[in-house]
Amino acid sequence: VAKRLEKFKTTIFTQMSMLAIKFGAINLGQGFPNFDGPEFVKEAAIQAIKDGKNQYARGSGTPDLNSAIAARFKKDSGLDVDPDKEVTVTSGCTEAIAATMLGLINPGDEVIVFAPFYDSYEATMSMAGAKIKCITLRPPDFAVPLDELKSVVTKNTRAIMINTPHNPTGKMFTRAELEQIASLCIENDVLVFADEVYDKLAFETEHISIASLPGMYERTVTMNSLGKTFSLTGWKIGWAIAPPHLTWGLRQAHSFLTFSTSTPMQSAAAVALRAPETYYDELRSDYSAKKAILVEGLKAAGFIVYPSSGTYFVMVDHTPFGCENDVVFCEYLIKEVGVVAIPTSVFYLNPEEGKNLVRFTFCKDEDTLRAAVERMKERL
Ligand code: GLN
Repeated sequence: VAKRLEKFKTTIFTQMSMLAIKFGAINLGQGFPNFDGPEFVKEAAIQAIKDGKNQYARGSGTPDLNSAIAARFKKDSGLDVDPDKEVTVTSGCTEAIAATMLGLINPGDEVIVFAPFYDSYEATMSMAGAKIKCITLRPPDFAVPLDELKSVVTKNTRAIMINTPHNPTGKMFTRAELEQIASLCIENDVLVFADEVYDKLAFETEHISIASLPGMYERTVTMNSLGKTFSLTGWKIGWAIAPPHLTWGLRQAHSFLTFSTSTPMQSAAAVALRAPETYYDELRSDYSAKKAILVEGLKAAGFIVYPSSGTYFVMVDHTPFGCENDVVFCEYLIKEVGVVAIPTSVFYLNPEEGKNLVRFTFCKDEDTLRAAVERMKERL
């Protein structure tokens, strides 16, 4: 394997889902729903295939989907973007992240990330040759330590990667935090790469796109996807929204990574994004009920549960059960309790920082969540 990928292992999500199958454990690890996406979207995909929308799509996305993305972004953030010049459809947000890193970062550029971070950030930064600067968000509230952040911004800082709502903590960046990040970026001419795939799973406060703050659109790449919001994680439809000068860079990478994204799925994605607001309201209310089952259950089982206000994840501290670290605890949980969670130490540059923390997902039907909770209450 090439040096730039030497340190990375099989992703923790794949490892844990394989163990779930092997031990017949209930999988509250990898974040994929165990229920299907909406009928009207699936029907639209079948129709598109039957209608012969089966050849390469335009590289930057089918015009219809680009327009639907721009319209949704306008509704959500208030920003007017040009669907043809500022929206790029990618194969999932994961490709948008890779294309952004590879298309906009030069070897040696410093990029700041907040730990715990989604694993692909570090791997794609490594592929781009970026120098990683890491700021740790700490429990209980995972607030941004502003002074630490200020101390790592230098003239070599090219970008700050943010993820709100945040995987794996469920933290949502507050308006004050986003404003502070924005003013640092404007002062130091730094870009922001914003992963907002959980924007529709904001339970307490409105999601804020950092691109919508004054002076920020011109320096921000906003990334999102269909998978989480429409329970279609296997479709791999994502996108990046950025001003033309940044879009140019990420499109150059996208052109040579995947060239274009599945045509019929883009057609169905456009139908999905035109769903009425009631679709999103129902999604949130279903997920609130699921979250309540999991959070109450985890507390009753004896975990220290940290507040999660967005995403479909909850972070807990497992130390009441006496295991030496997150990996040992998760092994015990799979083998002796029959439940899978994600150990979080891989989401830190310094794994020690995550050794007490474990992530559970509640993107499962209520019976599955109840069954997992019962096992943990009985067997932990
Ligand atoms: N985003 C999903 C999660 O955090 C997993 C994606 C993946 O398996 N790469 O669980």
